[in-house]
Amino acid sequence: MKTVSEAIKTVLEHTRPCGAEEVSIFDSAGRVLLEDVYSNRDHPPYDVSAMDGYAVRSEDIGGASRENPAILTIVDDIKAGSMPQRAVESGQAARIMTGAPLPQGADTVVRVEDTDTDGRVVKILTTSARGTDIRRKGENLREGEPLLHTGTDLKPAEVGILAMVKKKVVRVGRSPSVAVLSTGDELEGLEDEFSPLKIPDANSYTLMAQLSLTGAVPELAGIARDRKEELREKLSRALAYDAVVVSGGVSVGHHDFVRETIKELDIDMKFWRVAIRPGHPFAFGISQEGVPLFALPGNPVSAMVCFEVFVVPAIRKMLGAKRLFRKAVRVAVGGTVKDKKGRTNFVRVRIENTPTETVARLTGRQGSGILMNVVGADGLLIVPQECDELKEGDSALCQLLSVQSFQERPPVNEV
Ligand code: AMP
Ligand code: MG
Repeated sequence: MKTVSEAIKTVLEHTRPCGAEEVSIFDSAGRVLLEDVYSNRDHPPYDVSAMDGYAVRSEDIGGASRENPAILTIVDDIKAGSMPQRAVESGQAARIMTGAPLPQGADTVVRVEDTDTDGRVVKILTTSARGTDIRRKGENLREGEPLLHTGTDLKPAEVGILAMVKKKVVRVGRSPSVAVLSTGDELEGLEDEFSPLKIPDANSYTLMAQLSLTGAVPELAGIARDRKEELREKLSRALAYDAVVVSGGVSVGHHDFVRETIKELDIDMKFWRVAIRPGHPFAFGISQEGVPLFALPGNPVSAMVCFEVFVVPAIRKMLGAKRLFRKAVRVAVGGTVKDKKGRTNFVRVRIENTPTETVARLTGRQGSGILMNVVGADGLLIVPQECDELKEGDSALCQLLSVQSFQERPPVNEV
């Protein structure tokens, strides 16, 4: 049986990037950049003021204070977007706005709050070191400098950089299409009539949501009943997509036909069973055409956890991303977590900040069928394979569930 790390390694060895496409900057957020982007300009293009205030010569304001201000003659008024009309000579100052170019002769900006004026002269009420409140030419971007590398996730700041260098169209990873198939005689589809005796299909929807939020394009492939022919037919149709995610029927039950069908379809099964809790019967294979197939256990929490641990890195690789894994953060354990040795356990937790640390608390009972214990969870607390107990206050890693983690109160509370 593979360890979690071995299973991830095997999955990644057999998944390939889906190639590139071009999109407009308007559609680029959330995509993975597949080119290197260089700066085509200096930004700022010249030294500019970082404040509304006065551009001065530092030697003119040495020792200035409220009691003993330096008095300078105002010789210019420079707005952002216009050029200085004259140099600042000894004994002079130019009124200057944030983002406006620094005039010749000036080497320092004094913010307006530290001045007093009658419009003709300005009193400088503090001393400022030379260079204060000046943004230097090229301090943000330098022409020719590499800014964003291939494999970068395009988030708001990255999109802003694209705009700054006039990249209206960008090469990004093509989003893989992924067929999502559920299996089981007991399942009631979303469109089926309500039956108190059936089990509602949750996995199709949790998995499609996970896929969308990971950047893939999910396709609902429906429910296959526990019959070999039906499973074979639905699975073989699913293989037309870039990847297949099937849930249920992969365990050792008498009606678990997924593994058998996988073999019949000539899918090369790389492994079955991983030392993970929940989600032990997870299986992975590759079709003759190179389509990866992830066979997840049927229990909704197991399916979700296996997706986070094994499918997310694979989708990220298909997208061409450089960072394949969900971010993990170190937390203090907020209660006792008991476990059996031999499997890596991913426990559903909520993360809270106390005045001194970040604490992860269990969301509730951890049964792999209790989807409500993932509702509101921020992450999966990792109990290592050879650990059978985490005690209150122990330090552990917590893999964040997604970027959609929010908290009730603002993180700052100034008095
Ligand atoms: P299986 O892996 O097929 O043995 O299923 C394990 C458990 O997960 C059973 O209790 C199933 O009813 C349940 N299950 C399987 N597929 C789904 C699904 N798509 N949605 C919700 N529960 C499911
Ligand atoms: Mg089943």
